[in-house]
Amino acid sequence: MRVLYPGSFDPLTFGHLDLIERGCDLFGEVVVAVLKNPDKKATFPIEQRLAQIEEATYHLQGIEVISFEGLTVSCARIHKADLILRGLRALSDFEYELQIAHTNRSLDSEFETVFLATEAHHSFLSSSVVKEVARFGGDTRHMVPEVVAKDLNRLFNSGLDNDPYERS
Ligand code: ADP
Repeated sequence: MRVLYPGSFDPLTFGHLDLIERGCDLFGEVVVAVLKNPDKKATFPIEQRLAQIEEATYHLQGIEVISFEGLTVSCARIHKADLILRGLRALSDFEYELQIAHTNRSLDSEFETVFLATEAHHSFLSSSVVKEVARFGGDTRHMVPEVVAKDLNRLFNSGLDNDPYERS
């Protein structure tokens, strides 16, 4: 099976990576689809997000990393996916995710959405929390892959006294 895992990934966290790895084990092929959203100013440009995901998933087989604009179901069709994969961290994610899943089914009934519950120890992770931590000089290396931690550090912390990369 080939699943489409769409998202902003701005930036990729260990929560996302966990879902990609488990999606790969369960389904065989995962297309990580990075959304170019013209209405939302991203922290990392699309090319950098793609490069981060490619580097962080280098050890995995069956991964494709692409960018897309527009409807998720159109992207799923173009990339010949069988299913759409999304993650659930907490009950608070559920309402929004259910609404999107219903919307996608109403647009193209061929595409079912499957949800994977995140590992408990990753359930607090979100791209925005990670950026908040980095912005205030916190160490993000237990939250994001090394490539992302370095990019966050370069973006927010260069020159700070508590720069974790200066210490190690
Ligand atoms: P979007 O802006 O489309 O919600 P995100 O990049 O925030 O994009 O998330 C993409 C998908 O990954 C969503 O299904 C989201 O629920 C899931 N996700 C986000 N953070 C985690 C996490 N810590 N663990 C597991 N899944 C997650």
